[in-house]
Amino acid sequence: MMKLPVVDNGFIDACESRRWQGELSDLVTDPAELIQLLQLDPAQLPQALSAGRQFPLRVPRGFIQRMRRGDPHDPLLLQVLPTAAELRSPPGFSADPLQEGQVNPQPGIVHKYHGRLLLIAAGQCAVNCRYCFRRAFPYGDNHLGRHQWVTALEYIRAHTELREVILSGGDPLVLSDRQLAWLSSELAQTPHLNTLRVHSRLPIVTPSRITDALLSWFTSSRLKPVLVLHCNHANEIDAAVRAAMARLRDAGVVLLNQAVLLKGVNDSCEAQEQLCEALFAADVLPYYLHQLDRVSGAAHFEVSDEAALTITAQLRHRLPGYLVPKLVREIPGVRAKSPLEGRAGE
Ligand SMILES: *Cc1c(COP(=O)(O)O)cnc(C)c1O
Ligand code: SF4
Repeated sequence: MMKLPVVDNGFIDACESRRWQGELSDLVTDPAELIQLLQLDPAQLPQALSAGRQFPLRVPRGFIQRMRRGDPHDPLLLQVLPTAAELRSPPGFSADPLQEGQVNPQPGIVHKYHGRLLLIAAGQCAVNCRYCFRRAFPYGDNHLGRHQWVTALEYIRAHTELREVILSGGDPLVLSDRQLAWLSSELAQTPHLNTLRVHSRLPIVTPSRITDALLSWFTSSRLKPVLVLHCNHANEIDAAVRAAMARLRDAGVVLLNQAVLLKGVNDSCEAQEQLCEALFAADVLPYYLHQLDRVSGAAHFEVSDEAALTITAQLRHRLPGYLVPKLVREIPGVRAKSPLEGRAGE
């Protein structure tokens, strides 16, 4: 693996971090502004305002620039704009569909799978995705203060069967590189760990987040760096995203993607094929395609299992096997993601 040269580039680091932090402090949070920027019908505003009161609009300007003007069905727009459909909550949809409350042994930790655990490193995200299963998760209780970081690290040190720590959220990359460098070095000093995985949507929505300082804490320790991105549509990948991916790849980071299958956004074989090809062109391999978690407010995004299986069956005909993601669903109480394929006779 290539290591970054250790040079003192504090000045460049400060400029780089000012850039992404500036972008994150200038998010679009007012539905009226989003509707105006995209030249959409203002008649959508009242519903956007009322749905936004339950789970606010948050979207970086750079992501909005990848949306088509005047198109209310734009696949990127549909992921972020609050709509009246969210106010319906049909049976079967709930606030905590994964019942993570039960595997949250202490603030900040979700320990459900063997050998790896999730550290909820930050409650916030740069973007609020309307279908997010954490839209109703008690983030407030999972905001880690200094003391809680220390207790979380003690938990990780005590569980010697762990091999991998997954920084998740929220979005862990909203934390500063200084905080992440501290955490990464604490984890690297834990002998039983061998991999540091980050789950993040930030490099997609705000690719300027990939700074030299990030590459340094992520790739200069003995832990193998894995970044699992979250990208749902080929239009999310522009030149800036490709450039960010190239820097990560050159620094030796393993790049994978998870997507969520979303009605109206990417629920066709063509959309999935374009996504997988765009990811591969950016050196990212498709990892998971998730069936939606049944969280209140997201029912209108649900795709039936039958339709989902048809899409992946078609994908297998069109793409090499290494570009076909695993179609999975999270089932509460089951200690791994459950594949939808090959379940006959179970
Ligand atoms: C998805 C997930 C993981 C990681 O699972 P992999 O199959 O290794 O990608 C770990 N813990 C929790 C709670 C998860 O939901
Ligand atoms: S980035 Fe991920 S965790 Fe954050 S709102 Fe979107 S889906 Fe949820």
